[in-house]
Amino acid sequence: MVITEIKIYPLKVRLKEPFVISLGTITHAQNLLIELSTDTGITAQGECSAYSFINGEMLEGQMALAPILAKLWIGKNPLEIAVRLKELDGLLSGNLALKSAFDMALYDLNAKAAGMPLYQYLGGSNDRVLYSDRTVSVGDPAAMAEEAVRYLEAGFQSIKLKLGGPVELDISRVAAIRGAIGRDIPLRTDANQAWSVSEAVRVLKGLEKFNIEHCEEPIAAGDLAGLRFVRSQSPIPIMADESLFDHRDAIRLVQNEACDYFNIKLTKSGGIGNATKIAAIADAAGIPVQVGCFSESRLAITALVHFVLAHKIVVHFDMDSPLMMAEDPVSGGATVAEDGKVELISDSPGIGATIHEKYKDSDRVVLVV
Ligand SMILES: [Mg+2]
Repeated sequence: MVITEIKIYPLKVRLKEPFVISLGTITHAQNLLIELSTDTGITAQGECSAYSFINGEMLEGQMALAPILAKLWIGKNPLEIAVRLKELDGLLSGNLALKSAFDMALYDLNAKAAGMPLYQYLGGSNDRVLYSDRTVSVGDPAAMAEEAVRYLEAGFQSIKLKLGGPVELDISRVAAIRGAIGRDIPLRTDANQAWSVSEAVRVLKGLEKFNIEHCEEPIAAGDLAGLRFVRSQSPIPIMADESLFDHRDAIRLVQNEACDYFNIKLTKSGGIGNATKIAAIADAAGIPVQVGCFSESRLAITALVHFVLAHKIVVHFDMDSPLMMAEDPVSGGATVAEDGKVELISDSPGIGATIHEKYKDSDRVVLVV
């Protein structure tokens, strides 16, 4: 089998309401779709979601680079997954979001060629129903509390709060939310790097009494000495998100004893290949994993569900991006219910989900043959 054609599409999907975190505001998902065709007639899709302020990638840049990567694969055998992925790394370092779309399409193709749903191709079993948390944007304490109540009423079993400083305001945000939803609903927090080391210690100590499951990325990404110190002082477990892109970051976090949890996102890791390596490190180090998302559609979220079904070390699920979209551009795939229940119902080969034609921007498609 050889890859005969690769199409690269921008995918712009409006969000129901702007998504606000400490690093910026998003109104549309600006995603990229990679579509592989082969001489056997099997086609496959992969998607990524660039967030320039987190991964340094933008759709415009990806549209320029993707054809260059695509050319490397034309006429090549897609079954040689490791070799194909290494070709991308050999030409271009970084750009893990873009590479994750290629990686995802390649895994979709391989699982289809094997006649298996992707989770089975990855060695997993469809034996879990997942419950995603729902993320509350950072803002005024009362508005955040109101939003959290709305999600609980919709049936969500856990809530994630975006925080962003200052210290006293963050503590009052959590206090307002706990006041509104009670003490027992699992509550997670994410500062998206907003705090200094000393602020992080102050906030996290201030949040101790609010029964918080974990805090994602309290300080500037990559400051592992700082993160290790925050972790040593914090009564709340620390989760690495922006400090954890690929498996190399994972091993550094373990070596530095800098976190209690990993947050794996396919868009950060460079795709399923590297995410599998991170899961192996997590497993060996005894670090439980959350899976997360940017603004991926149900295509990439379904790929993530397949990955989860192959890795029992994944225990927390933050995969609510399809619920933020005003429209669902995907047919097939995992269901993402309004109460956060995520379930893979179909056992179709590969990811089992495809983007509808009408959401592919055919005016801007780039065809590589
Ligand atoms: Mg995060």
